[in-house]
This record gives sequence, structure tokens and C-alpha cells, in this order.
Amino acid sequence: MIIDCHGHYTTSPRQHEAWRTDQIAAHKEGRAAPPRPSITDDEIRATIVNGQLKVQQERGTDLTIFSPRAAGMGHHLGDASTSEAWATACNELIHRVCTLFPRNFIGVCMLPQSARVSPRNCVAELERCVLQYGFVGCNLNPDPSGGFWQDPPLGDQYWYPLYEKMVELDVPAMIHVSQACNPAFHTTGSHYLNGDTAAFMQCLTSDLFKNFPTLKFVIPHGGGAVPYHWGRFRGIAQDMKLPPLTEHLLRNVFFDTCVYHLPGQELLAKVIPAENILFASEMIGAVRGIDPETGHHYDDTKRYIEQLPFSATDKSKVYEGNARQVYGRLSAQIAKQFGRV
Ligand SMILES: [Zn+2]
Repeated sequence: MIIDCHGHYTTSPRQHEAWRTDQIAAHKEGRAAPPRPSITDDEIRATIVNGQLKVQQERGTDLTIFSPRAAGMGHHLGDASTSEAWATACNELIHRVCTLFPRNFIGVCMLPQSARVSPRNCVAELERCVLQYGFVGCNLNPDPSGGFWQDPPLGDQYWYPLYEKMVELDVPAMIHVSQACNPAFHTTGSHYLNGDTAAFMQCLTSDLFKNFPTLKFVIPHGGGAVPYHWGRFRGIAQDMKLPPLTEHLLRNVFFDTCVYHLPGQELLAKVIPAENILFASEMIGAVRGIDPETGHHYDDTKRYIEQLPFSATDKSKVYEGNARQVYGRLSAQIAKQFGRV
């Protein structure tokens, strides 16, 4: 089985996105948000059949770990209560997709974060999504301010109430920023990759995994700048008298394969142990075009993986085994969802 651990509902029904615009406008004007729109199963089906499911089938992958649109999380908009209502609506929609297509999608939730609001307020939504919906992880935004970095680093005790619940439920977080509202950053071109790199460094300089030995983070987009600058990070850790990064971080930190050219994938596979790499494409996402150099979509990452010198065992780990390890509830959820069909 080929499991794509990083997909967002970027094709969600128009009325869902329109409600978000209305919700934020109402918040700005001090009005109550309008009621949520009704969305039929057929409307959801159409967005998936002509979207992520079509691409999954064309590319020959089997199952996508599916979460709300990342740039759409917009934690910098509104306040804690608007974030809560929006997260509830987005997660419910993911649950409906997974119910309609149980063999193709397994859910991951977004969290109702807001800048400078304790992540303690995310615990209930995480628990609801895992226990009621069968979700297997969450997307954790290390910068809910959208490019101004107003919250403490991920190693700070500020985040611990959320980590305690993640550990209790055995679910990992993909560390994933949302839209940048700081014009210095392009959302997917720099803010995302900055977020990935910053998150890794925040873990490196903290005791986080000493305190939470079973906590797991997936750093997406191939780890941002991390694999390319592995020597720098190793050297900094050495200067700080920290253990080697393999011991210090790689029991807890994993990287996905959302890297959109072969040389980048080659570097990732050369630098990071196969046990720490999870197959992902983030389709249909940030880069939707066709690379004229290859004639194929930039985000058709399976094509690159097929060209890497992985042993059969390592390739199977990257495609499936590692995802089952990192997402501790995944195998049981696959059995449950596949049994339903
Ligand atoms: Zn993403």
C-alpha cells in the first residue's frame, strides 16, 4: 500500500469557504456569524471524485492522510471562538470525506489555535476528532500569528497541555503553518519552509523529547532547509554539547517527501535515514503545474521516489511502514475503515 501522509482538502465546496469569509466579516463588524451552509454528500463527492481521488488513482497511490486546507486554517483571523467554530466546520467536512471514501482517506484535524491563546484550548477538539471521527493526527501551527511568531517556541511548556493529550491519544502532529499575513513572506514559497526549518531548530534547542519521549512530529515539505543544512544543525548541536541528532531528535522527528524535484529527493534520502522519511505529495496543493523538464507534475512525488536507490525494504518503509509507525492509530483505523466497505 502507498500511503500519502500529506493531503489537504483544497477542493472543498465553495459554500464552505464562502461561510468562512462571512464568519470573519461578521466578527469584524461585531455581528453573530451566519448559520453554516448545508453541503450535500453529492457536492462533497463531486469535489473529491474530480479532485484528490482522481489524482490518487492516476498516480497509483492508495490512501491519503487528509486534513483541512492548510493556508485556509487562518489562525491569525478572528479570535479563539471564530477559530473554534471554523476548526469544527473544517474537521467535520474531513470526517464526511473519510466516511464517503473510507478506503482512500483517513482524517487529520486542524486545531482551533489563535496567537497568544494557550493551546490548552485545542485539547477538546483534538480529542473529539480522534475519538469520535477516528482521526489519526493533527496539524499543529507553530506560528498562529501568520508570520509574526508571537507564541513561544515549540519546546516551551506553553505547548505542553496539547502534547500531553497527543501522547495520551497516541497521535502525532504535522508541524504546519498557515497563511502568511506578513507581506515579507510568501505563504507557500517561504513561510511554509521557514516554519518547517524554525520548528526543527526549536526542537533541537529544547528538552522536549526528553520530557515527551513518545511525542512525534512530522516536519513537512521535506523538512524545509533541514536536510540541506544537516551539517550546520549537527555542528550547532555538537557545540551545544547535545547528543548526536540521531539520538536527540530522530526518534521523534520525521520528514515527508513533499519536495518537487529529483535532486532534492536524492538529497533527502541520502541525508535522512529511511526510517524517518514518510511518503507524501501534498496534492492538490501549492504547486499544481507541470515541470517542462520532466513533462510531469511537480508534485507527482512518487515518480522521484521510484528513481531513488532505496532497497525494497526501505522503499516499503517510506511508502507505508513508517506512516503506520508514526501514526500510532493508523493501522487500526485502516482496518476499521476498510472493513466498512
Ligand atoms: Zn500541507
